[in-house]
Amino acid sequence: MLLQLFEGLPFYALWPVLAAVGVGWYLLICGGLYLFLHRSRYAASARRWKTQLQSTRSDQVRGEIRDGVLSMSMVMGSIAIAFWCSYNGYNRLYASPSEYPLWYIPLSIFGVFVVMEVFEWTFHWACHRSDLLWKVHKHHHRYANPTPFGVMADAPIDMFIKSSPILWIPFLFPIWDVALIGTFATMNFLYGTYLHAGFDPPWMPSPHSRLLVSAWHHNEHHAGSLDHNYGFFTGFLDILFGTRLTPDDKVARRPSYRCTECREPATS
Ligand SMILES: [Zn+2]
Ligand SMILES: [Zn+2]
Repeated sequence: MLLQLFEGLPFYALWPVLAAVGVGWYLLICGGLYLFLHRSRYAASARRWKTQLQSTRSDQVRGEIRDGVLSMSMVMGSIAIAFWCSYNGYNRLYASPSEYPLWYIPLSIFGVFVVMEVFEWTFHWACHRSDLLWKVHKHHHRYANPTPFGVMADAPIDMFIKSSPILWIPFLFPIWDVALIGTFATMNFLYGTYLHAGFDPPWMPSPHSRLLVSAWHHNEHHAGSLDHNYGFFTGFLDILFGTRLTPDDKVARRPSYRCTECREPATS
């Protein structure tokens, strides 16, 4: 479906065209949410849910946008390579949902979900454990009070590696283009935008949630403990490897701890 839209373009045109599409979506979604949360007439009432009470500095926002545009271009590079390999018959990325039985689509989406959960957690964990990878990843940690633009504010090589499952999953098993890109966009881009938006509204996952990663958990990774909360979607791997940190864990370690951002009574 998506493959057909860009078929026939040589690689040197495919990457820039896809990059323009990706950057457009980045500016539209992250820019729209940023304007709504910080610049609209609803900004004052939204502030009650802001995780960090101080405002984000404008030079930080400019840095996030500059890094985000570059990094989104890297993501689209992974997609361009995957598309080029498909056009030339090197991988098993397919365009028509009827190419395999329909039951295969949810099964393959679950496969993409599991591969991405394990890969993104492991790579993020390694970035904080390896001196070499930390040199790359610390770029993202300059943004200690992130905004929606921060979802892509990584060093370009960091984001290229994070998006690389798009490139190598079609070599592991057949995957419909919409399923692959849609799952990546939902988990890494849309959910990641929520994680970096810097707001904890009550209708989103709670800081006390053990199942899902909430904006509180990722804010804690940016502004609190670098050694915890490596997950971007579910908390399973952080729980398994003892790197999950919730307000309740902090209370257990330090009974005087009060989660000022939680705005709800702690459960323990
Ligand atoms: Zn990190
Ligand atoms: Zn982050």
